[in-house]
Amino acid sequence: MSSVQYKALKGMQDILPPDIYIWQKVEAAAREVFSSYGFQEVRTPVAEATNVFTRSIGENTDIVEKEMYTFLDKGDRSISLRPEGTASVVRCYVEKNLHTLPPPQKFYYTGPMFRYERPQSGRFRQFYQLGVEAFGDPGPRIDAEVISMLRHCLERLGLKEIIFNVNSIGCPECRPVYREKLIEFFAGGLDRLCPDCNRRYRTNPLRILDCKVDRCIETRQGAPKVTDYLCEGCRTHFSSLLSFLELLGVSYIVNPDMVRGLDYYTRTTFEVTSKNLGAQNAVAAGGRYDRLVKEFGGPETPAIGFAMGIERIIELLKNSASHDFPRPEVFIAAIGELAARESLVMADGLRTRGFWVEVGDADNSLKSQMRRADRLSSRYVFIIGDEELKSGRLKWKKLADSEQGEISMFEISDFLIQRS
Ligand SMILES: [Zn+2]
Ligand SMILES: [Zn+2]
Repeated sequence: MSSVQYKALKGMQDILPPDIYIWQKVEAAAREVFSSYGFQEVRTPVAEATNVFTRSIGENTDIVEKEMYTFLDKGDRSISLRPEGTASVVRCYVEKNLHTLPPPQKFYYTGPMFRYERPQSGRFRQFYQLGVEAFGDPGPRIDAEVISMLRHCLERLGLKEIIFNVNSIGCPECRPVYREKLIEFFAGGLDRLCPDCNRRYRTNPLRILDCKVDRCIETRQGAPKVTDYLCEGCRTHFSSLLSFLELLGVSYIVNPDMVRGLDYYTRTTFEVTSKNLGAQNAVAAGGRYDRLVKEFGGPETPAIGFAMGIERIIELLKNSASHDFPRPEVFIAAIGELAARESLVMADGLRTRGFWVEVGDADNSLKSQMRRADRLSSRYVFIIGDEELKSGRLKWKKLADSEQGEISMFEISDFLIQRS
């Protein structure tokens, strides 16, 4: 006997019924809401040339430094599994010359992303995101629209107690000034910062602001706030955004510590957290990235987007609501060979009308077939035997309340439609 045990990779999970129905519900709700705002789906490959990610996400980010699945393919090309969605969509936007189409161009995507992270609750190495990107509109109206769209999406799913954290992290004109202020502020306290933050101090000091290590949180008390150093353009953009959010009834808090982990953001950044998840667990996050298209060799094109973490949303939904899972509409229990043949034909006919139909195994007793119908939570059971074949009338039973009756074989479909 072989003792090999095959297991899914660490941090990668199988998604099975009934959970899969919650996934489908989330995806369907997002598609509906995104479409109503004119966002259209794009599907990009799960792997890209590694430099697509290093260029956009930034060499000095945790994602690029530690978390990417990078390997050489058989042609010795460095390939990476996508750790997030934006870089691929921007690569596609530039490669396919989508900037020649009238702006704004609005896209959404969904699919698996890959990061080699320490597995912990709610974090996976293969995880799923639903994201949107809008190209060609400098905002701030579209910033507000995108944020409001995210809110509608989460509300449609029944998620409550969600909080929008919004911030502006400035632009190439004003951020360097702020960066200097931060460097000055932290210069005397480097020994109190964690090793990661000591590295960030040299590479990207803004990121010290969202370190989750206690002593870093303490050390940054009283640090200069980015919103106090915005240039005229960024300040106007930000205050207009806030007024549009108020107009649309989006409740938000301004959170100047929220700088986001990726290098490519400019001006607007935002993050949605839920009281029902730990503070580290944003349900969705995004921001404006006005320079990224140009980085990829396209024309200067303002853009904004966000991504939702599907696993976290599923976790919230599983804890917060009861779910109605699909179940068979009809179970046909057959007694005898002739009835078994007829039950196949009946089932086929009902399935073409869209009903979920299960057929009992006529080799088993009626009692055992009924048990299976019960286990499947079938809505109705129809019983067919020699007598029913002769008379053309079937007995039916509704399992939930044992209501029962008789019906002509040819009226089953109408019966089900009337009662659905
Ligand atoms: Zn600025
Ligand atoms: Zn730190």
